Amino acid sequence: MSRPDRIGILCMVSGPTASGKTTVCRKARDVENCAYSISCTTRAPREGEVNGVDYHFLTKEDFMHRAIHGDFLEWAQVHGNCYGTLKSEVVAHLEAGRDVVMDIDIQGAQLIRGCDDPFIRNAIVDVFILPPSMEEIKNRLSGRGTETDDQMRLRLYNALDEMKHWREYRYALVSDTPERDLERFRSILHCERMRSSRMRTPEGLLGDIPALDLSDDLVSSDQSELF
Ligand code: 5GP
Repeated sequence: MSRPDRIGILCMVSGPTASGKTTVCRKARDVENCAYSISCTTRAPREGEVNGVDYHFLTKEDFMHRAIHGDFLEWAQVHGNCYGTLKSEVVAHLEAGRDVVMDIDIQGAQLIRGCDDPFIRNAIVDVFILPPSMEEIKNRLSGRGTETDDQMRLRLYNALDEMKHWREYRYALVSDTPERDLERFRSILHCERMRSSRMRTPEGLLGDIPALDLSDDLVSSDQSELF
């Protein structure tokens, strides 16, 4: 397989509960041909969620076993459950030049930003999705109907804290319609793909450009003053 001309982007998407981040990540995966990092979690599946598609649903014991074994790029406790990103969901894709989109909480994003590996740090793009209002979060959460009253209260309480961190992210989107969110998210990916710091083979490109001939007869007297 030929060497890709850039490393993939590791796009970390955070935001409070029901901000629309999961929808954006999933849609971007489909239309931008990105990999979506399927996290491990100890929380119970919601109705309709499929193991290995939405999350890898693990027992606490399995989760801790994997953590001790060093399988996670990061992991954190969120809303009383454990969530973690498997290295196997990320690293090989980035090396192959494939972009990876991930839904991650603010603690996980902080851990990845601070990781020792310059390859991972160089791949990072971070986006925070803000809800249009707290009222809208409440409406979206109760409309979803997947949380008990206590779980909803905890998620709303945590949302206020999470929102304080939006400036830690390079990009911030205030959620609008799903279509508009996706459109703006895609423009971030399109720009980030052109970052020179992630390009691997500029020599290959420059090899096609003929070397400059700066001999006297090609340089006018005015230009020669420049050299
Ligand atoms: P939910 O239970 O609503 O699917 O997710 C709850 C929270 O866990 C969200 O804030 C989501 O971003 C976060 N989350 C999902 N996967 C991961 C992960 O792999 N690592 C971390 N640190 N947080 C995650």
